[in-house]
Amino acid sequence: MSTIRTIAFDGDDTLWHSESYFEATHAQFRALLAPHVAGEVIDRTLIETESRNLRLFGYGVKGYVLSMIETAIELTEGRIPAADIRTLLDFGKTMLDHPVELIDGVIGVLDALGDRYRLMVITKGDLFHQETKVARSGIAERFDRIEIVAEKDEATYRRILSRVSEAPDRFLMVGNSMRSDILPVLDLGGQAVHVPYRITWAHEEAAEPRHKPPGFYAIGDIAELPGLLALIDGAAA
Ligand SMILES: [Mg+2]
Repeated sequence: MSTIRTIAFDGDDTLWHSESYFEATHAQFRALLAPHVAGEVIDRTLIETESRNLRLFGYGVKGYVLSMIETAIELTEGRIPAADIRTLLDFGKTMLDHPVELIDGVIGVLDALGDRYRLMVITKGDLFHQETKVARSGIAERFDRIEIVAEKDEATYRRILSRVSEAPDRFLMVGNSMRSDILPVLDLGGQAVHVPYRITWAHEEAAEPRHKPPGFYAIGDIAELPGLLALIDGAAA
């Protein structure tokens, strides 16, 4: 394998916390609907509604809020009070307004790698919210390039690599989602490091490759990345 030249990081739940806010909001949503319907039904209906709506809304908080409202209307057979719909809108505004909290160890990793590699962010979701998060993160200037995309599939990665004139075998992606950050990059002939987050949104769940393909690595904490890269580049040299 060639030595790595470009490293791209996923944003949500790789550089900064995201899913934990969805988890907290989900608990509030459950509590709001508890007088009407059982918790398991709420969970199942919400994820079904979100998955169905992704094609129309894309990823992000705004689509999530619309899916919560749709779920609430459906499960209460239209009896959800307007005041509760306002509460759901407020949940969304709180999420959008939340300060960006970096994952522990991120700054140290960027310090260690910034001089030796071209660093990028490749994040997906609502353009406006992702731009806001990048700006609030305080680390935007540490990256050579920031790409905000609607979907992270093989075609997206291929397009980005061609735009930055990088060969797949010199590209390494770091992220928490097997489905979005790891599998499409491996399919393309790139390398990928999986760093799981405490929780994974059901839609992003995918099994680890059964037979560890070349170029696939997994670490428990992003702080382990510089050490892993020293091994990868050492082996390639
Ligand atoms: Mg992520």
